[in-house]
Amino acid sequence: MKFSQMFIPTTKETPNDATLPSHQYLIRGGFIAQTGAGIYDFMPLGKIVLDKIRAIVKEEMDEAGANEVQFGFVTPLSLWDESGRSLTMGNELLRFKDRKNGDYVLSPTNEEAVVNMVKNRITSYRDLPVHLYQINTKFRDEARPRFGLMRGREFLMKDGYSFHSNAEDLVREFNHMEETYKKIYTRLGLEFRVVEADSGAIGGSGSKEFHVLANSGEDTIVVCDSCDYGANIEAATRKANKKEKLETIECEKVHTPSQKSIEEVNTFLGTDSYYSMKAVIKKAVYEEKTEIVVFFVRGCDELEETKACNAVNALELEDAIEDEIIAAGIVPGFCGILGIKEDIQVVVDNELQGDNNLVIGANEIDYHYKGFNLTTLENVVYKDLVAVQEGDICACCGGKLSYTKGIEAGHIFQLGTKYSQAMGANFLDENGKTQPFVMGCYGIGVSRLVAAVIEQNHDEKGCIWTKETAPFKVDVIVSNAKKDEELEAGMKIYEDLKSAGIETIIDDRKKERFGFKMGDYELLGFPYAIIVGKKLQDGLVEIANRKTGQKTDVAIDEVVQKIE
Ligand code: ATP
Ligand code: MG
Ligand code: MG
Ligand code: MG
Repeated sequence: MKFSQMFIPTTKETPNDATLPSHQYLIRGGFIAQTGAGIYDFMPLGKIVLDKIRAIVKEEMDEAGANEVQFGFVTPLSLWDESGRSLTMGNELLRFKDRKNGDYVLSPTNEEAVVNMVKNRITSYRDLPVHLYQINTKFRDEARPRFGLMRGREFLMKDGYSFHSNAEDLVREFNHMEETYKKIYTRLGLEFRVVEADSGAIGGSGSKEFHVLANSGEDTIVVCDSCDYGANIEAATRKANKKEKLETIECEKVHTPSQKSIEEVNTFLGTDSYYSMKAVIKKAVYEEKTEIVVFFVRGCDELEETKACNAVNALELEDAIEDEIIAAGIVPGFCGILGIKEDIQVVVDNELQGDNNLVIGANEIDYHYKGFNLTTLENVVYKDLVAVQEGDICACCGGKLSYTKGIEAGHIFQLGTKYSQAMGANFLDENGKTQPFVMGCYGIGVSRLVAAVIEQNHDEKGCIWTKETAPFKVDVIVSNAKKDEELEAGMKIYEDLKSAGIETIIDDRKKERFGFKMGDYELLGFPYAIIVGKKLQDGLVEIANRKTGQKTDVAIDEVVQKIE
């Protein structure tokens, strides 16, 4: 492609809210354009990168034996009634009515749609297993869309769903997907970790997350330096809790909140209704920072209670415990919690409330939510708890654990029969008995990966795309395109590179100066530039390596072989 023909609107302007390099550079490089909160258009270069990532995901999924399908972006709310998630998805599920007053949603994920596709079409164990996937737009009405493509409201996800006749076969596919995902992230040139995770609002039992390691990651993961053990902080804490019964304290036992505090809390909760509140503050030390997670329990309406119960399910507690919930609720805008009986507290998975969880000391904190100063709450109930440490986790070799930041780029779940049972999707087993499908589901944040690549690969000048994600491998920069001999030499190199199958763009713009073109090259992050300029009279051009910054003189007819 020729720069002169491409729409690449680079700019020096950085949007005010763009704090992360990926957000800044993708906007400044004219890869993406924002049209609304958490809604981005992909401009030509952004679209090329997105399609490259998408193609790798597709190739590996096809290779793994999954079938590509496409679900409607819009689904009728009735499908979500069947699974029960119309009640439990909360505000991330964007609902709307059509002209006939029918209720619809914009798909945030597609478990219901896939069950609906397979139900009554696959009827025998002989037709199992089957794995269906799509790469399609999702919409989640995130409370705080931010960081550009990292947390959009509209985003591109690969979502796959597998159907099995028994749990063992699900585990086989789950492991197969773990390997497939590893191939995908490796091909993308990313440094990543696979970690144990919680299942969140999706539900099910085993789940693993794939984190691209980057300081800007919103998630904290715990990794062992001597074995493969890795877990997100929630899963690690829980595991440690199970073993050591990490102390959690009911506030009554620590400090009884004063009447005034309760009033304050009430204001904070935005309700006058009576509630019984137990708060647990868990304080974990993360490097020098302090993380405090606050959990609340209160009497609540049916919807909140359903959510809470689902959270309990997600935690895989024994049924007996579930029956004894006396008050459960999720404080709007917070990582909820469940208080159960006198002496048991259960942490509700953060994911139930999306990113509304309150983690003080993490990247971003809203200390003044709804005007209530949380430091006051901190005074109400407060007790130090230890962070997850060496020896806390059973699954680990006991080696040194360290905390690191990750970007959740993928998540795989063993769903079991949660959706098939709820939606009456069954097959006949070998004995002619009706059974619900055993399911797995597997997500990859395709558009988030565009940002993740840059979070891991950039410098103060701009993007540094990896081999497989670069929109073009080489930028042939014609220093002064008004000079015929430079333009001709540049075009010759450009044609030669293209013939050799190397993705190349030529900066043939006549109105831009050399310095400006170099600035664009550095911002846009193509792996190599071939600089066609003054040295041409000696038969030489310069090859610049974006990553190392090195520049080398090369004879014109050696360019192709040097780049290959
Ligand atoms: P997060 O914890 O970041 O909110 P999630 O756990 O809610 O993500 P999943 O339901 O596991 O997300 O969806 C699968 C994948 O989709 C995630 O691993 C992530 O890569 C991607 N994803 C989820 N939410 C967003 C978003 N708002 N913007 C971009 N990608 C997203
Ligand atoms: Mg998550
Ligand atoms: Mg989420
Ligand atoms: Mg997830």
